[in-house]
Amino acid sequence: MSAEAAEAAGRNRVAEHVAALPADALPAYLYDLPALREHAAAVRAALPAGVELHYAVKANPDTALLTALRPFVDGYEVSSGGEWAHVRTVLPTAPLAFGGPGKTPAEVAEVAAAGVHRWHVESVQELYRLAATGRPADVLLRANPGLAAGRLATAALAMGGGPSPFGMDPDDIGECLRLLRRPGFDRLRLRGIHAHLASGLDAEDQLATAEAVVAWATGLGAAEVNIGGGMAVDYADPAARFDWPAFGTGLEKLLDRHPGLRLRIEPGRSLTAYCGWYATEVLDVKRSHEEDFAVVRGGTHHLRTPATRGHAQPFSVLPVDGWAHPWPRPAAAGANVTLSGQLCTPKDVLAGRVPAPGLRAGDRVLFAMAGAYAWNISHHAFLMHPQPGFHVLDDPAVRPAARPSGGRVTAG
Ligand SMILES: *Cc1c(COP(=O)(O)O)cnc(C)c1O
Repeated sequence: MSAEAAEAAGRNRVAEHVAALPADALPAYLYDLPALREHAAAVRAALPAGVELHYAVKANPDTALLTALRPFVDGYEVSSGGEWAHVRTVLPTAPLAFGGPGKTPAEVAEVAAAGVHRWHVESVQELYRLAATGRPADVLLRANPGLAAGRLATAALAMGGGPSPFGMDPDDIGECLRLLRRPGFDRLRLRGIHAHLASGLDAEDQLATAEAVVAWATGLGAAEVNIGGGMAVDYADPAARFDWPAFGTGLEKLLDRHPGLRLRIEPGRSLTAYCGWYATEVLDVKRSHEEDFAVVRGGTHHLRTPATRGHAQPFSVLPVDGWAHPWPRPAAAGANVTLSGQLCTPKDVLAGRVPAPGLRAGDRVLFAMAGAYAWNISHHAFLMHPQPGFHVLDDPAVRPAARPSGGRVTAG
């Protein structure tokens, strides 16, 4: 199936489910697990056998998504003690990589005692603290080597290559390598280098960054390199995908040049963005100084992604034809409409000045690409509106995972 056809099929499946919900069940998040599995399988198939795939849990830690991804990933990257405890409960045997700047002393002690597959060390002090636990650990040193600055400047969210709280400069990496040869550090097994330098890179820029990181890391003697995540997601085009086949081919060539290298990637957004949807209803439509505004149930306190990234969240309108009220039905007069939420702030915009001719109060709106950095990064408590419902759409042939809490529905 083409990406366009797959996107349309997913949208139809979700739209059908949304159409059957009563208005007061909105807003709602919908997670399309068949679509997630199909996408994850395609990503996996595009990667050469020698590349390990971890899912960066911070993109979306939802239990249903973590579980659905399990057959397609080698492990999970967790960035806090909270994520670590959560994934361990949901998937007790999955390999975990523990990263994140600012690990607390209590987190270091607890995770070191339990043991993880990989420990991503973010600073010299963290290496001392980890060694002081007396526990064994398999360590990757997180580096910020300042490579390929021209390439990285194009990234949507640069996390490295310049001044950054993430990872270590080459001098500190050198200090860690010296410490790791000292007696008090002999329980720590140095596995290699980790470098997550940027988000939003296309396949060509990802490969250029990977090549630079691998050349630098293997020059230090690293036998294992984790090149991070950050594969681009284009919110202006929901059917577009990062070019996984080209990326996989490039990584295969890279491995050919470094026989025996253990290479790992840990994408988040590019795995789960597409399977999530946020559905809601237009409460009111009004014209303000020659512009149309549609106010929807919910808003950026549920779906903060467009506000943080400054884009219009892609959406489809699900027209609702009945209007039960004796007063006139509000409708957009112009071709472009701003879809705003219920918050008393002008920043509560889900999609600004976008084409939605004739959009009416009572119509439903289905926002796409809400599966990553969406609900879990949103400021839920602001204004005390009710939280959305959560619906997991699954293939009836696949047994739904048990839901840990109320307010969730699994539909076949
Ligand atoms: C956020 C993060 C990722 C995932 O980034 P995406 O842009 O979601 O792919 C991977 N590794 C680290 C260390 C991160 O901080």
